[in-house]
Amino acid sequence: MGEKHRLLIIDDEAEIGNMLKEVGEASGYKTKALTSGQKFFEVYTKFDPTFIILDLAIPDHDGIELLRYLAQRNCIAPIVLESGQDEKVLSVSTTLGKDMGLHMERYFQKPLKLKEIAELLNKAKMASSNFSVDFLKSAIESKNVILHYQPKVCFKTNQVCGLEALARLKSDGGLIQPAAFIPLAEETNLIRPLSHLIVSMAFKEFNKFLELLPTLVLAVNMSPKTFNDLLLPDEFAKMAKEENIDTKQICIEITETAFLEERSTLADIIARFRIKGFILSIDDFGTGFASLSELHRLPFNELKIDQSFVSGFESSPDAQKIIKSIISLGHMLGLTVTAEGIDSKLAWAFLNNEGCDLAQGFYISRPLEKEVLKEWLLHHKEGFHHP
Ligand code: C2E
Ligand code: MG
Ligand code: MG
Repeated sequence: MGEKHRLLIIDDEAEIGNMLKEVGEASGYKTKALTSGQKFFEVYTKFDPTFIILDLAIPDHDGIELLRYLAQRNCIAPIVLESGQDEKVLSVSTTLGKDMGLHMERYFQKPLKLKEIAELLNKAKMASSNFSVDFLKSAIESKNVILHYQPKVCFKTNQVCGLEALARLKSDGGLIQPAAFIPLAEETNLIRPLSHLIVSMAFKEFNKFLELLPTLVLAVNMSPKTFNDLLLPDEFAKMAKEENIDTKQICIEITETAFLEERSTLADIIARFRIKGFILSIDDFGTGFASLSELHRLPFNELKIDQSFVSGFESSPDAQKIIKSIISLGHMLGLTVTAEGIDSKLAWAFLNNEGCDLAQGFYISRPLEKEVLKEWLLHHKEGFHHP
């Protein structure tokens, strides 16, 4: 990804795109200008823009469709809408974007005021560097972290079997999503104190959920960057003991990209986690680089199929084939297979039919704040009931 500030422009008029591109580059952004919605879908994930300028009226996919796409991917980049259409369309679309949870900046009617656009770009650059290290550091120090929990359900029995703790930062403007601060924490050395805080909070809160459902397993996410600390398993075991939690009820999720990091310590840490009784899961499976021999060699318990395959499965025969082969690969290796991103009855039915073990996704429940989760658990004590 290289450059820190990345601007993506979509405008079907190439001339305008190029003009904006110049503005972006002059403001210190790595910039890409595209002329169609189709190209946008192809480029978005890889380019991972930190700022987006979107023409509402592009021929193949309209701007609202693109906003919806961005919202589904939890995009946090500021978005500027521009169009030759009348102001009402722009303003209602901006409101719509806000309702979807997107970070909508002001909109522009053509002809564009390039100077004002440059100002917005600079402001966003400043904001992202202000948010940086200092904000994160003080958020950790003052424990301004809150955990949401997303339930996991067993396909066969419909029983609620687990919870995944997902971190958010508290700020004046509301909650900040992990996509905005985990990468920053990873770039600096703040990921360690942050993970420590999150895990100790999660262990503490977990006891309250166990009172409602004693068999629950708590999953926490660990950054691959922390998997070079040989003392990590000891630290976890100590924290679990302090809260009287059985390590067999703690699952550690680590993304598949961990396999790119230092390998000897990874195996050491994973083995010691297992010896101490923890459950180990490979998160976002299918996007990274785990080789078959590594999968076989490292003592994992669970595979989580990446949600990008699950969320688009209906319209993608390839995604369906990938899902099927991940499930059979996982089962051949004796692993539990979890699907995340299940957001419809159709997705549930497909994965259930393919023999997937555990389900997680908006169809079952969104990640919930702890008091809301308690209510949810009470309601689903006897098992998850389909809406
Ligand atoms: P993840 O571990 O793969 O977590 C699943 C993400 O998918 C969560 O986003 C969850 O809200 C979202 N999700 C779940 N079901 C659905 C669905 O049906 N549809 C859609 N569109 N999304 C769904 P969230 O909470 O924003 O977390 C994003 C990522 O940030 C996590 O991905 C994880 O890698 C990382 N993360 C979150 N909390 C922590 C943490 O405490 N420590 C570390 N190191 N990473 C964390
Ligand atoms: Mg996870
Ligand atoms: Mg995942």
